[in-house]
Amino acid sequence: MCYNMYMNNIEIYVHIPFCERKCNYCDFVSFHSTYDVIDKYIKQLLKEIEYKKYLLNSYEVSSIYIGGGTPSFIDSKYIVYILESIFSNYNISKNIEISIEVNPNSITLTKLKSYFNAGINRLSIGLQSTNELELKTLGRVHNYNDFLIAYNNAIHVGFKNINVDLISGIPHQTPDTYKKSLKQVLMLNPKHISIYNLIIENGTPFKTMFDNNEIQLPLEQDLLKMDEITKDLTSYYRLNRYEISNYAKQGFECKHNLGYWSDVPYLGFGLNSSSYYNGMRLKNKSFIINYLNIDYSKYITTKDKSIYYDEILYLNEIDHINDYIITGFRKTSGIDINEFKNTFNKDFEDLFKTALKIYQGMGFINKNNHFYYLTDEGFNVSNKILSDLLLK
Ligand code: SF4
Repeated sequence: MCYNMYMNNIEIYVHIPFCERKCNYCDFVSFHSTYDVIDKYIKQLLKEIEYKKYLLNSYEVSSIYIGGGTPSFIDSKYIVYILESIFSNYNISKNIEISIEVNPNSITLTKLKSYFNAGINRLSIGLQSTNELELKTLGRVHNYNDFLIAYNNAIHVGFKNINVDLISGIPHQTPDTYKKSLKQVLMLNPKHISIYNLIIENGTPFKTMFDNNEIQLPLEQDLLKMDEITKDLTSYYRLNRYEISNYAKQGFECKHNLGYWSDVPYLGFGLNSSSYYNGMRLKNKSFIINYLNIDYSKYITTKDKSIYYDEILYLNEIDHINDYIITGFRKTSGIDINEFKNTFNKDFEDLFKTALKIYQGMGFINKNNHFYYLTDEGFNVSNKILSDLLLK
């Protein structure tokens, strides 16, 4: 491990695509697999980590995020191998944030201890709801009690930075059941919560159930009530909204996610993971057979990198500005016009004069010192606002 204050920051994402069972709403690249495939996958992941190390000579890793899938589904020795490999091959920041996503039923006390000892300092627990019927509807494999055990074990082991994931807009959910879920979680005093609005994605069991009228989504007016409940309860428990779906106690904002929304480059390892650095966006292979068949030992010397990726996109300035706008306006702090000028050598207010005037007039965008940000009302119509701001 080394540390150099003059290096640029980069973030690392590691994808573990395995889950005990597929949830009814999930369209992520995740699936159940045998021990044998998991073992092969981790061996390949370790090669990818090792042979790409030359890419990041001039970077220092500021955060590592192990996501999925369900990283806690696999043996914790694999998570330890992954971290050891990253630590020995890359420059690591002294203040690195290392997060892992876990599910309540697969995260045992032994796994928690081994994560903690390996340097993981942030846990993200996928609870989604405390209501048993809602958990069943979502197709989750755990119950609320599994979560309570996992949460208490995590505190016992020494984790101080814990996120809990919740979902609003679950079929048949009411403002009352949502309020109960949120309150039960907030009473545990987590440092961070993420609340995602359920979207029925194509190709999921929910899509078929929805089309066959087997599930009913909450009405628009109930969703608005849930938003109000979120606003009231999170402020009562002193969690600040710092991004559309994320709330944290002061100083516990997720560094990794803030990096994504602040134009920090990142390198993704594993199936279907994305990378963004040196003006490129790249997407790893998304079929496991294709990923396992790659020979990473020739990665650095191979000129045509397309054999390693499903997508390679060279960003021009317009692409870069548009990405910056889309991600920047996800943060409640919004876009810093001074930073925009430093990055693009362009004046934000000149570039978006007309749209800013219209949306400020409608109360959807506000200005605070040198930051432009979306108001709560603006967040509700953010798609429309962003489509008007994007450069063609
Ligand atoms: S646990 Fe997460 S990644 Fe796995 S199927 Fe459920 S939602 Fe998808």
